[in-house]
Amino acid sequence: MTRVDTFAEPDVVLIGGGIMSATLGVLLHQLDPSLKIQVVEALAEVAKESSNPWNNAGTGHAALCELNYTKENADGSVDISKAVEINEAFEVSKQFWAHLVETGVLPAPREFITPVPHMSFVHGAEDQDYLRRRYQTMSRHHFFADMEYTEDRAKLQEWAPLLLAGRHDAEPLAATHADAGTDVNFGALTRSLVDFLASKDVVKIATQHLVKNIRRKKDGRWELTVRNMDKGINRSITAPFVFVGAGGASLPLLQKSKIPEGKGFGGFPVSGQFLVCDNPEIVDRHNAKVYGKAAVGAPPMSVPHLDTRLIDGKHTLLFGPFAGFSPKFLKSGSVFDLPGSVKLSNLVPMLAVGKDNLDLTRYLIEQVMQSPEDRLDALREFFPGAQLGDWKLLTAGQRVQIIKQHPEKGGVLQFGTEVVSATDGSIAALLGASPGASTAVDVMLDIIGKCFASRLPEWRAELERMIPSYGKSLKQDPALYTRLKTHTDAVLQLKA
Ligand SMILES: Cc1cc2nc3c(=O)[nH]c(=O)nc-3n(C[C@H](O)[C@H](O)[C@H](O)COP(=O)(O)OP(=O)(O)OC[C@H]3O[C@@H](n4cnc5c(N)ncnc54)[C@H](O)[C@@H]3O)c2cc1C
Repeated sequence: MTRVDTFAEPDVVLIGGGIMSATLGVLLHQLDPSLKIQVVEALAEVAKESSNPWNNAGTGHAALCELNYTKENADGSVDISKAVEINEAFEVSKQFWAHLVETGVLPAPREFITPVPHMSFVHGAEDQDYLRRRYQTMSRHHFFADMEYTEDRAKLQEWAPLLLAGRHDAEPLAATHADAGTDVNFGALTRSLVDFLASKDVVKIATQHLVKNIRRKKDGRWELTVRNMDKGINRSITAPFVFVGAGGASLPLLQKSKIPEGKGFGGFPVSGQFLVCDNPEIVDRHNAKVYGKAAVGAPPMSVPHLDTRLIDGKHTLLFGPFAGFSPKFLKSGSVFDLPGSVKLSNLVPMLAVGKDNLDLTRYLIEQVMQSPEDRLDALREFFPGAQLGDWKLLTAGQRVQIIKQHPEKGGVLQFGTEVVSATDGSIAALLGASPGASTAVDVMLDIIGKCFASRLPEWRAELERMIPSYGKSLKQDPALYTRLKTHTDAVLQLKA
């Protein structure tokens, strides 16, 4: 449904109708219901790019299964600090969603979040040893105390029978299992958040409206040139605060703003494909998100996984992602996105990254060249009995990885997300894509902290009401963690 409402001079402009803008919009509206908020989305509907459930894997990233969040140190110990950070960020998202369910902003939890166990699964004695050590370290932390570990095929059969179906080798296997895992429909969540915003007189949503330019005015406010794609006319919107939540396209918009903080950033797009199965005989035999180990050179977000998905009431299985290269910054983007983003200020970092990441280049070339049989072989590492006829190939969203200046190397490729904001807090952009939608609330709180710092004292009580752990540390306070998680899980219907 196209919505064409615009304010000429709102207090806040949110560029993009994905999970990030939707989350920031609802947070800001709850904190100050008088703020005039304008959402501008280029496509005909919100949640059509990365936040669409078919464009991402829907994993509620809580570090319960992703091996790339736990690095192995040279001495054999396992560093779980990143996993702890991500788990806490996901709990923050869950607290906010639970508050919105309790206050009627969000619908019944099953419309957007479903409990699905998270598993890590490895083969071979070496990886078995790694997973065992990882489990021993993780299970000592209260975030991961309920995680289970097995090398026993009978237990694996109970947790995820497809992993053993047709497996005849005697190779050592190992897995961990966490009941607290989730599958999240970020598209449904985004739509519900935007529908709530659209019901308010102080919020206007304009879809089919493309932000073409951002320019700073002499009075310090930002003037956006916005194109109505249906009518082919431009209009201007001026606001004191702009959030660039344009997903992969945030980088070119940040460059247009010309803020010094945005200089030196580049983007490296990685596309993704998944195999999808909706044969009920197979789908019904699997209820888990099973993450394996990434291949050498693979970017961390290309860790293969065999996933239960629940999208709009329908169960499917998804396997992948298979990475690929496309110069587009959005699925609906243009092949000129990447070349157009190369500027004098980011040329050195981009060339340095090209030179230093030959493993990644080789990996992407191999992925692009894959035949359907190659993809089946990758799937059979997880589900040896898989047959090609049961699976079809689906193109997922684009992820634009951050390229950043580096004092010694010239430039580095960064696989996380980063908020880039002007020193005066008048504009902020979100770059990068991982761990992504799951940590949307935490990332948007970071933006509020940076860009609305002067209002935090008056907003603090409401922030604590919406997110009870706000300003506190769940990782350092096991009792607080247990109390809040018990409540959140009950509201979100994640545990009996
Ligand atoms: C293959 C893949 C798998 C993923 N798996 C997971 C996962 O399992 N779990 C997880 O938590 N995250 C995952 N992610 C990441 C997650 O999907 C993203 O981090 C998240 O959806 C980004 O939300 P967003 O609002 O920033 O961007 P988007 O949802 O992409 O929204 C940006 C919006 O901005 C609009 N836009 C762009 N340019 C303009 C413009 N100039 N004017 C107006 N509008 C504009 C676009 O049309 C789009 O609607 C995955 C991503 C991919 C690609």
